[in-house]
Amino acid sequence: MSDRVLAGQVALVTGASRGIGRATAIALAGAGADVAIGCSTAGEAAESTAAAVRDQSVRCTVIAADLAQPSAARELVDRTVAELGGIDIVVNNAGITRDNLALRMSDEDWAAVIAVDLTAAFQVCRAALRPMLRKRYGRIVNVSSVSGVIGNAGQANYAAAKAGLIGLTKSLAREVATRDITVNAVAPGFIETDMTAAISQQARAAAVAAVPLGRMGTADEVAACVAFLASPQASYITGHVLLVDGGLGA
Ligand code: NAD
Repeated sequence: MSDRVLAGQVALVTGASRGIGRATAIALAGAGADVAIGCSTAGEAAESTAAAVRDQSVRCTVIAADLAQPSAARELVDRTVAELGGIDIVVNNAGITRDNLALRMSDEDWAAVIAVDLTAAFQVCRAALRPMLRKRYGRIVNVSSVSGVIGNAGQANYAAAKAGLIGLTKSLAREVATRDITVNAVAPGFIETDMTAAISQQARAAAVAAVPLGRMGTADEVAACVAFLASPQASYITGHVLLVDGGLGA
């Protein structure tokens, strides 16, 4: 992506304290965007992302809001607009897993994943669309997963949420296209972050063996794709799901 293509724009990235969200916040800042860092709790991790964002000579604010709570989405969007002067880009990246085989999955684990990975993303989109519609410009990128495209044993809740995010992306894309607002999704495969750190060596080797490129991906590799879809250069792409998965879902 060419340098500073996002200069003068404001981005909100949820779950930006670490992993793919952190890499995305830094990539957007590198392209010149001011960035609001959404995080579940303020602290060292979010401040470290904020410092890396500010190193790119852009403005940055940290907003702590628990996306399991229905009020969080409005708070994130309203404070982004109030503190950075607008909202041009939204990246719905926050996500959790509560893996188990469906037969053993509790209602609580089902509901928790749907709440954060799907419902909160919808609520953030809904809140951000008002200012975007007024401005007649916007870029929304939802972080789905290859699990939502091809399914994954042990992840019925997560795969359902991530597939739901794809349906949300395609429907919103159709609703707001005439206002120059694009809505796309990225579907990462097996990416090296805290989320995958707990996986056993054996399971990791088996997962990597299924990846045509033969390795896990990095958060930076996902962030680069998010930053592209968030840029004016992706102006003729909407309702698209970009797999960033080393060929896993091919
Ligand atoms: P991660 O666990 O490192 O980061 C998740 C982020 O979401 C954290 O910053 C966390 O604080 C935030 N978050 C979680 N619950 C929250 C809540 N209730 N309120 C606010 N923030 C909350 O994981 P990651 O790998 O960086 O994942 C980022 C996104 O990418 C997630 O949506 C995940 O589902 C998706 N994804 C990851 C992989 C992978 O292999 N790592 C693959 C496909 C998709």
